[in-house]
Amino acid sequence: MRRALVAGNWKMNGTLGSIGELGDGILQEAGGVADTEIAVCPPFVYLSAVADRIRGTNVALGGQDCSANDGGAFTGEIAASMLRDLGCRYVIVGHSERRQYHAESDQLVARKFSKAMEHGLTPMLCVGETLAEREAGDTEKVVGRQLTAVLAASGAAAFHHAVIAYEPVWAIGTGRNATPAQAQAVHAFIRAQVAAQDATASQAVRVLYGGSVKGGNAGELLVQPDIDGGLVGGASLNAAEFMTICRAAATSAARAS
Ligand code: PEP
Repeated sequence: MRRALVAGNWKMNGTLGSIGELGDGILQEAGGVADTEIAVCPPFVYLSAVADRIRGTNVALGGQDCSANDGGAFTGEIAASMLRDLGCRYVIVGHSERRQYHAESDQLVARKFSKAMEHGLTPMLCVGETLAEREAGDTEKVVGRQLTAVLAASGAAAFHHAVIAYEPVWAIGTGRNATPAQAQAVHAFIRAQVAAQDATASQAVRVLYGGSVKGGNAGELLVQPDIDGGLVGGASLNAAEFMTICRAAATSAARAS
């Protein structure tokens, strides 16, 4: 049985004050959610403040990115070891916004993934196709290529301790989510890619869906057999909405057990 995971990607949003309120709002309800892991990924500069608030609760902390390097003369970068030092359990790697705006290649993402693992973090590897790629029928080709780079660098066994997030680029922040059937098809493809190299890792790895998940559509998405939770952007900035998604994940998990 894979444990459901709902992670909030707060992106580059908030102030010290608003981040505190958001964290407190989530903590008020998180304790009542069973069978589901909850994580939040604040901007780097607010990690410490959030870490102080969530210590000893059932909400985990994650970074939004990490360097592919260990430390030293890399101005502006954040090492995986630093995230670990602050109490992070997770780190997002390969988010489409990093791939698009920071020209991150599949190979660089693969290096970040292995650096995260090396320092005891659980990477959340984001993969997903653009609208043009989907319309050209290239979804599996693109997602397969992104995944293969990591499988080649770290091996399939790494996915015993990693998370994959399928995030169709056309669904991120657009209000247009993949249908449950579209998402399930790609999730099954992803799991099959891992299974081709390591059957047990394919059953262990949690594959999250991300792309305009909200309280209103979470239930139908999260109940799909190969969807193990959600990576949530916009809706995670509202504590009540985010907790509705977490409860939907818990309901799906309870139904599956
Ligand atoms: C994301 O950026 O990871 C994401 C899923 O965003 P949204 O939920 O806003 O589409």
